[in-house]
Amino acid sequence: MKSAVLITPGRIDTVEDWPEPACGPHDVIVEMDGVGLCGTDIAVFQGKRLSPATPWVPGHEGFGRIAAVGSSVRGRSVGQTVVIEPNYPCLKCTDCLTGLTSACPHRVIVGLNAPGVLAERVAVPAHFAHSVPDGLSGADLASAEPYTVARSAVRRSGVTAADRCLIIGAGAQGLLVCLTLTRLGVRPVVTEPHPLRLAQAQQLGAVADDGRTGFTYVFETSGHVPALRPAVDRAAPGATVVLIGLSPAQLPLTLDDVVRRQLVLRGSMIYDHPGDFTEALAELGQARPGAVVQSRYSLEEAQQAFAGAAERAGKTWISIGSRDRQADTIRHA
Ligand SMILES: [Zn+2]
Ligand SMILES: [Zn+2]
Repeated sequence: MKSAVLITPGRIDTVEDWPEPACGPHDVIVEMDGVGLCGTDIAVFQGKRLSPATPWVPGHEGFGRIAAVGSSVRGRSVGQTVVIEPNYPCLKCTDCLTGLTSACPHRVIVGLNAPGVLAERVAVPAHFAHSVPDGLSGADLASAEPYTVARSAVRRSGVTAADRCLIIGAGAQGLLVCLTLTRLGVRPVVTEPHPLRLAQAQQLGAVADDGRTGFTYVFETSGHVPALRPAVDRAAPGATVVLIGLSPAQLPLTLDDVVRRQLVLRGSMIYDHPGDFTEALAELGQARPGAVVQSRYSLEEAQQAFAGAAERAGKTWISIGSRDRQADTIRHA
């Protein structure tokens, strides 16, 4: 079957002879229709995060149709459209048993410590292949997983419609936080140097940064540590700073900053199984997270899709099948 494989950092080939996945008794085989690209995938492509092996199949934000069902699986049938939840916690450790499956130390991370989904077919544990209604666009389905990440950060933050919110960054995560906050009735302020990304945030209902202060919430989505300090300086005493972007760099904050200003620092990592995913998918038709997508490529164009993804405004996705739903409202690259 066809698959996009990372050969060396910076080079992805689309090959024709990748081995077919085996369907275990608890798995389904998903015939892939599309895969969204996000910062993690780009970091693997660029060699900033190392894949466990090469050649390596990247990609984790996938959707498609069930093509085969394992012998022990109930309630799944061939032809169902599914979105893949690409983090498989063990569901047995202390973190999993307390509900914080996102902290599971045994977590299987598709595309990072387990093979990714940029292939014509993949095997997925049935509990992590969520069926969704028909009629959603490819862009909405390709954005379902990152939308779940953004929505989970907003859920964990405790933000309400009365809060004044600043979002740092309008990459895909920033835009999806913006979309989630707007749905709650918040009109967030967005700080973003890239004019096209800022324009996209404004289209989603955000206000461009005009230097105002007194934010009760700051959402850091860029992973760009130098952007944090000036944003925190503009937060109100007692504000909550929600950290979503990842970086190995030290935070530019002192204990004095946090204690005297009584800040709450809230890290948010992906989502917890299964509630966050099922709740996010249930509202996909209203939320329409595909609004953050700008560019679509074919599997054969994987190299081009990855090479430019970091510079493009809006999210990039790769369509794999040839289904009608891909002739949707997406503006091409
Ligand atoms: Zn992602
Ligand atoms: Zn666990």
